[in-house]
Amino acid sequence: MNAQKLSKRLESVAFFVPTGAVLADIGSDHAYLPCYLIHKGIAARAVAGEVVKGPYESAVRQVRTEELTEKIIVRMADGLAAIEESDRVDTVTIAGMGGPLIVSILEKHPGALKSVTRLILQPNIHAKVIREWALKNGWALQDEVILEEDEKVYEVLVLQRGAMALTEAEILLGKQLLANRTNIFVQKWSREVANWQRVLTSIEKADATAEIEAKRAELNHLISLVQEALA
Ligand code: SAM
Repeated sequence: MNAQKLSKRLESVAFFVPTGAVLADIGSDHAYLPCYLIHKGIAARAVAGEVVKGPYESAVRQVRTEELTEKIIVRMADGLAAIEESDRVDTVTIAGMGGPLIVSILEKHPGALKSVTRLILQPNIHAKVIREWALKNGWALQDEVILEEDEKVYEVLVLQRGAMALTEAEILLGKQLLANRTNIFVQKWSREVANWQRVLTSIEKADATAEIEAKRAELNHLISLVQEALA
């Protein structure tokens, strides 16, 4: 992967960036995504935010090497603190982290989202918490994709401002993903159900403490929720 050729995962994120976007890529690491989007003429300008020194320096180097310093500002900052009001950012990408970390980034500096109309979020795990955050914070899912790369399954969630209604199963699985039911989606959730069933079997022998009972009830609930949704 480089700034010309993205991974399939980052290409799926890039696909949802609107032409002319003013982008903030948070947790940009090597800054491949903003460099790619500027080279392709998709983003007009970008901020690449990084909280860790090593990846920040790597982003700075990459932007210099690609001769994009006029179009991409690299800032060392925690999450959305990389965005300044005068940037007039309208699109934010956060990719390659767990859902809970993405949500904590969104919650820490909510004011930075003032001018933002689109969020493209790519959680490696626990996409559910992002859907819960969106429901509570006035964001609606415009699109969702699921993909597999190097034997790992990723989801990309595209959010615009607005209200939405989701069932419990749709919060867990994704409304569009459930409607599309691709092979990757069915395999992912069949594997999850099998894992939960294994855990259930292993705790069957444990003493029936309140904690074990609660875990058992939770797992049984999740298993039936997913099995009914997939039926
Ligand atoms: N976004 C790139 C991608 O998808 O390939 C890089 C993903 S890398 C696994 C996650 C990056 O997020 C790391 O470089 C890490 O330093 C950065 N990161 C983690 N928490 C962050 C935060 N609160 N603010 C900014 N960057 C953060």
